[in-house]
Amino acid sequence: MAYGDYDGPDRPDKGKEGGSCNRTRCQCSPADWYNHGSYAWYCGECKDQIYDAVGQLHWAKDFPNAGHPMFETREMMDARKPIAEAKIS
Ligand SMILES: [Zn+2]
Repeated sequence: MAYGDYDGPDRPDKGKEGGSCNRTRCQCSPADWYNHGSYAWYCGECKDQIYDAVGQLHWAKDFPNAGHPMFETREMMDARKPIAEAKIS
């Protein structure tokens, strides 16, 4: 399954972590990439399509102070947590 292959109803776990990809025409699982732009989870294939070279340029331009990529796995977010907490204290 890839983007455009799916034409059914929204799955109950659409856009949820480890569930189905948030793209309506995809909804592959597992959705293990979090999109900080849409606050939903996507499959790796859609992540690569959305966050390609152009997508990366837009993210860097629109959110220069984000301090992280537009798409992250749970592991990536966990890995940078101690840095964020250190900044607060
Ligand atoms: Zn997808």
